[in-house]
Amino acid sequence: MKRIAVLGAGLGGTIMAYELRDRLGREVEIHLLSKGATYSFVPSNPWVAVGWRGREEIEVDLRPACAKRNITLHSQGAARVHPAENRVEMLDGTALDYDYLVIATGPDLAFDEIEGFGPHHHTQSVCHIDHALAAKQAFDKLVANPGPVVIGAVQGASCFGPAYEFAFILDKALRDAKIRDRVPMTFVTSEPYIGHLGLDGVGDTKGLLESAMRSKHIKWVTNARVNRFEGDKVVAEEINEDGSIKATHEIPSVYTMMLPAFRGVEAVRGIEGLTNPRGFILVDKHQQNPTFKNIFSVGVCVAIPPMGKTPVPVGVPKTGFMIESMVTATAHNIANLVAGEEANAQGTWNAVCLADFGDGGIAFVAQPQLPPRNVNWSSQGKWVHAAKIGFEKYFLYKVKLGKSEPFYEKLALQALGIDKLKAVSFDT
Ligand code: FAD
Repeated sequence: MKRIAVLGAGLGGTIMAYELRDRLGREVEIHLLSKGATYSFVPSNPWVAVGWRGREEIEVDLRPACAKRNITLHSQGAARVHPAENRVEMLDGTALDYDYLVIATGPDLAFDEIEGFGPHHHTQSVCHIDHALAAKQAFDKLVANPGPVVIGAVQGASCFGPAYEFAFILDKALRDAKIRDRVPMTFVTSEPYIGHLGLDGVGDTKGLLESAMRSKHIKWVTNARVNRFEGDKVVAEEINEDGSIKATHEIPSVYTMMLPAFRGVEAVRGIEGLTNPRGFILVDKHQQNPTFKNIFSVGVCVAIPPMGKTPVPVGVPKTGFMIESMVTATAHNIANLVAGEEANAQGTWNAVCLADFGDGGIAFVAQPQLPPRNVNWSSQGKWVHAAKIGFEKYFLYKVKLGKSEPFYEKLALQALGIDKLKAVSFDT
């Protein structure tokens, strides 16, 4: 019996294991390798950071769903992947051999690249539930003792949506606490313009987000390269097109939350042929590693080149729907390999995103992800906040029940004209 291991039980890895089980039935062993037995819905972390959600509302115990779906859960965490030996070494000294491996480890957060950065130093984070819970404590202190705040994303970041979301969510939470008038807010970003999002904008995200920031009294600095974070300020350089320094800003801040740059996790970093210099997994259009053909990768850990030169480096975001499309293509391709055929499915990699503002929000669809596009749409309204809650509830329900994609979800996606697999991708 063939053995498939999925490394990482986050947004991509969990549904990867379920979708493989749907497609391959009982003829293969499926092993899900996680750190702990809990799934945590990362997109809700900004709500956790202002107390709108608690840990228990956004976490799911993976054991019952895995047992039901005949998926073996290994919760001790992986120490190292050994691709030449088809083996994953675990943190407790045990090892698991595999025939096929899907790497879905998400990002390692590169806080150490900037002085004073990260939840152990001078800034808050919403990238992990534990960080978001710590950020909630800092938020309570801010409410008790109001002062200026800085929100944003640093050089090399690729995940800009949550930075905007958190700025607007914080604005709403501070208005609810009736202290917004005592909290000057500055958005500091490596993007060349507001609403670039690592995608050179989608529809009119520039206009929509600039207007939303103006109406909420949030100032901004773009093309920013942060030098260091101190206890009471952020020191950042604003960079010109030619790379020279336009201005150095020392922005007072008693509460700072900036998205870090991502890189690959330690278990895979620095493996010749498997990863790029930042530790992201190299894949071809079929999500398959070109060197180790029995290894696939989905999610934030996949290597995607930046979309063009910008004065300060920015990466391309990997959003939930895009990750789901990688998962669907990978399940199809592994099933093909198990049947003795070639990988031939390709995910659409469309960017579909809901950015919640706490009482409204902005939605965008970029199809394909890089311009020029067939669909380049953005819109705003109160419905986005409701849709984001729907996404959260629905995704958690899916993970809890061990489902990858029930029928009505498929229907909704087709109604939007968005499919997970490229029709042209079946090149056999
Ligand atoms: P993750 O969900 O991070 O999962 C990776 C998993 O791998 C984790 O469980 C981790 O513990 C595990 N792992 C890592 N190393 C090991 C190891 N050595 N051994 C075992 N397990 C390991 N996208 C959207 O579409 N909509 C949103 O609203 C949205 N909001 C976001 C908000 C935030 C704050 C962030 C950071 C991202 C957001 N994203 C959003 C982007 C993206 O959808 C999420 O980051 C998503 O969680 C990525 O899925 P993933 O599977 O790649 O990684």
